[in-house]
Amino acid sequence: MEERRRTLREATGLDLVGIDPGALTLEAADGMIENVIGTYALPFAIATNFLVDGRDAFIPMVVEEASIVAAASNAARMARPRGFTTTASAPMMIGQIQITHVDDVDAAARALAEATPALLADARRLVPRLAERGGGPVALEVRVLARESLDGGVVVVHLHIDCRDAMGANLVNTLCEALADQVAALAHGRAGLKILSNLCDARTITVRCEIDDAQLAGPDADGADVRRAVAAASRFAELDPYRAATHNKGIMNGVDAVLVATGQDWRAVEAGAHAYAATGPAMPILGDPGAQRGSYRPLAVWRETATGLSGELVMPLAVGTVGGALHVHPGARLALEIAGIEHADRLAALAGAAGLATNLAALRALATEGIQRGHMALHARGLARAAGATGDMVERVAAELAATGDVKADRAREVLARLAAASVLKTPP
Ligand code: NAD
Repeated sequence: MEERRRTLREATGLDLVGIDPGALTLEAADGMIENVIGTYALPFAIATNFLVDGRDAFIPMVVEEASIVAAASNAARMARPRGFTTTASAPMMIGQIQITHVDDVDAAARALAEATPALLADARRLVPRLAERGGGPVALEVRVLARESLDGGVVVVHLHIDCRDAMGANLVNTLCEALADQVAALAHGRAGLKILSNLCDARTITVRCEIDDAQLAGPDADGADVRRAVAAASRFAELDPYRAATHNKGIMNGVDAVLVATGQDWRAVEAGAHAYAATGPAMPILGDPGAQRGSYRPLAVWRETATGLSGELVMPLAVGTVGGALHVHPGARLALEIAGIEHADRLAALAGAAGLATNLAALRALATEGIQRGHMALHARGLARAAGATGDMVERVAAELAATGDVKADRAREVLARLAAASVLKTPP
């Protein structure tokens, strides 16, 4: 571990030797949430080999599941000859102002449309600094949700706000609350909820990579076979929501690990990702553009090219390099420094690249040896430690468990007891 930290110091200039980079003081923790009784640690790791938009990056990851960091680093190595390329949309969030008990929803929609320039001007005046940074409220949209319902006529106003480097939830909520009474008066209705939508489908990241067969090949796998198998696995996810859910879980393995390391609201991103998977633009499936409309889709797809694979991920990613937990969590700020992230679009690019990488690694493993071999080797080490093994005994117990294929807690205890007894017998008095 110290060697890894030294390597990181040489590459980044950040001195991590002898310190725990993710540590949080009790005082800081107590200021973050309520009723704090302590802190809860998770492993903080670096995924390597990432070349994203022509720049090398160390990808910080905080996660409890074994093999995600290895999978990401491995897939990034396969993608490395050309690297990942990304396109970020403008960081546009949507705020919703719900208006209920509207007698004439059409008249309300007309009145709101006419008042849009004035409403936007008022909204911009409320966030002068954001406007100076090139962001701020940019559009207002009116949607009629119900003509008659238990809540009467229901209209919702969407305020589109460019949040620049902030995730933006508080910014958006503040603006929605400030405009709600004015909007309700124009619609002759009652103001209901005023809050952002986590389905931020106007704030997306697109990540692409092209991988040659030679990179896909392994000691016991032919590159062209892997290419065909990964493309077939992608088609399976495109046809079947049951598979798409697991495909997307593999993407979120990489994305969430980066989000946790960098202090982001990963619940917000998860909610947005799955809502987008269920509502986003349908992709052409087997020549039928409408085949999957309304269904739950994979966020990333893989296609065969003449010489390898082409992968593309599109997902909403509302992340910030200012605000939120970054005010108070030194580990999250350090993670941004390690990755060389200054702006939110770079963070989205790296989190998206990590997601496409873990997706590829999972599909490659599933399409070749299956994921259990790698998982079980790591799992065996965990069981060996849980059984009480320390030092080189961890590897010896894990190796025996993995070799027999019987990777279970009670077996780990048995093997440890036998190996420990044997080593006591061998120890000279
Ligand atoms: P925030 O409240 O800390 O606001 C960000 C601040 O950064 C603003 O005051 C802005 O003026 C300032 N800023 C400085 N430099 C900036 C730049 N370059 N670009 C943009 N702003 C800049 O944070 P936020 O992003 O508004 O809100 C995020 C928080 O809201 C997260 O902690 C999240 O968990 C929480 N939240 C989420 C939800 C949800 O997702 N449904 C709901 C409520 C709250």
